[in-house]
Amino acid sequence: MKQKIIAANWKMNKTLPEAVQLIEQVSDYIMTKRLRFMDENVLVVLALPYVYLYEALYITRNVPHLALAAQNCYTERKGAFTGEISAEMLQSIGTEYVIIGHSERRNYFQEDNETLLKKVDMALEYDLRPIFCVGEQLNERMEDRHFHVIQKQLKDSVFHLPETDFANVAIAYEPVWAIGTGKTASPIQADRMHQFIRSEIRNNYSEKTACNTSILYGGSCNAANARELFSKNDIDGGLIGGASLNAADFEKIIESLY
Ligand code: PEP
Repeated sequence: MKQKIIAANWKMNKTLPEAVQLIEQVSDYIMTKRLRFMDENVLVVLALPYVYLYEALYITRNVPHLALAAQNCYTERKGAFTGEISAEMLQSIGTEYVIIGHSERRNYFQEDNETLLKKVDMALEYDLRPIFCVGEQLNERMEDRHFHVIQKQLKDSVFHLPETDFANVAIAYEPVWAIGTGKTASPIQADRMHQFIRSEIRNNYSEKTACNTSILYGGSCNAANARELFSKNDIDGGLIGGASLNAADFEKIIESLY
């Protein structure tokens, strides 16, 4: 059964005491629902600021169906890159996932498709599973170029991977105009793009890999709109920003999966 994933992207939010409290709340919630999570093949991923990952790994060590992610990693293995964090460092503390290609990294830190390819390769070399983000800007959608943009992002940064490596990648479709804006893609718009992404995976790899890849929706997904989005066949969960910062909201979003 394909894995359903709800991933929280905390971005640059929370102090340590706040982070510990939220991680404990989400962990307690998962413990009470774990049988349901098992039946439905649900995984919750928490993408935390680097500085909280080690503590979080300790807090969540006995929590099933929960994995931790970094929000980024560097393109190089090691060396004189002040301030950067390598995939190997993340692996060495037990991180399982890493978000790569978030639109905030693309826009504020000028990460292009070539840079992202290097990050994807580095992550996989150190057994981190990339949650690879794709998404179009508003003008690209208005000009009807959104399918082409997403096709290129996939082709340039992940479709070079051998199929066995690609099997460890989850895709997050995040239309840039919907991130943090309160404007959600309609379930129909999102589903069309998810179908397109799955067909691209099918064309590039195989039917089996297309069926098994988790494709998440992200962009102002919240407790009120999650159920309708997740009811679509090709939407396998969500990457949640703002609404993941509050335990009650985040739990409602997880509950919308089943
Ligand atoms: C995100 O940053 O990945 C995101 C989806 O943010 P938000 O849910 O706040 O739009």
